[in-house]
Amino acid sequence: MNYDNHPCFSEGAKHSFGRIHLPVAPNCNLQCNYCNRDFDCVNESRPGVASAILKPRQAIRYLDEVLERIPNIAVVGIAGPGDPFANPEETLETLRLVREKYPEIMLCVATNGLNLSRYADDLETLKISHVTVTVNAVEPQIGSKIYAWARFASRMYRGVEAANLLLSNQIEAIRKLKERNVLVKINSVVIPGINDSHVAAVAREMAALGADLMNCIPLYHVAGTPFADIAPLPQEAAESIRREAGGFLPQMKHCTRCRADAVGLLGRDQTDEVRSLMRKAAI
Ligand code: SF4
Ligand code: SF4
Repeated sequence: MNYDNHPCFSEGAKHSFGRIHLPVAPNCNLQCNYCNRDFDCVNESRPGVASAILKPRQAIRYLDEVLERIPNIAVVGIAGPGDPFANPEETLETLRLVREKYPEIMLCVATNGLNLSRYADDLETLKISHVTVTVNAVEPQIGSKIYAWARFASRMYRGVEAANLLLSNQIEAIRKLKERNVLVKINSVVIPGINDSHVAAVAREMAALGADLMNCIPLYHVAGTPFADIAPLPQEAAESIRREAGGFLPQMKHCTRCRADAVGLLGRDQTDEVRSLMRKAAI
């Protein structure tokens, strides 16, 4: 397993090595004010979107077929379309099946981190090398403007209480992952007027926890969400935020806002080529 071949964590690998996301996690335990998972459109490229939901065994059948056609896939990831750990059985079963059949492939998970901590040992056993955690705020007051609710251990949380719980669970999970030598990337959605002047503070606190990399993602317009009317972040502002955050954590600048069923190289997506295989596997 060569970790330098992860196309998201190593910019040098993005032209040569691809990834596949297996869409096995439909539910979410958090409501971010920029996300609308009801909307599924083949023309839309963003997290939270997938053309089908697969059961773990269907996902392996689909993976077998994709790997026959697209040989340079280096990473298998689970990134939704909900949250992997709001669907822990499906996520862990899929990772287990992939690890069993493809012992050398890199495994990756992208999560909001709310329910991640309790699975740190499972991830270590399954040799998950890369985890992305979306951390948009390290102050619950700011977080409370970003999240409508969080559901954890059969209870609903709202407002500052939800943001506080999310943050403390994220911190605990990242600590555990770093104790287990997992590479951790922090995704931060930069929301003008909400957390744009706070991203460097996120970078500083995540660097102190040992995170390895950060991806600052300007808010993407998604219809029907509370943030749908926020004006886009100007390019210059995005660059200056990355520069400032870069003082604490190396910055990933080649993110392509992948769908939860993305396939192929980051810059040359091949999801369309294999969509019929995915739908066939889902039947
Ligand atoms: Fe959407 Fe992900 Fe937020 Fe869940 S955690 S609401 S899937 S962006
Ligand atoms: Fe992992 Fe995210 Fe890259 Fe997918 S897009 S392989 S989840 S870092």
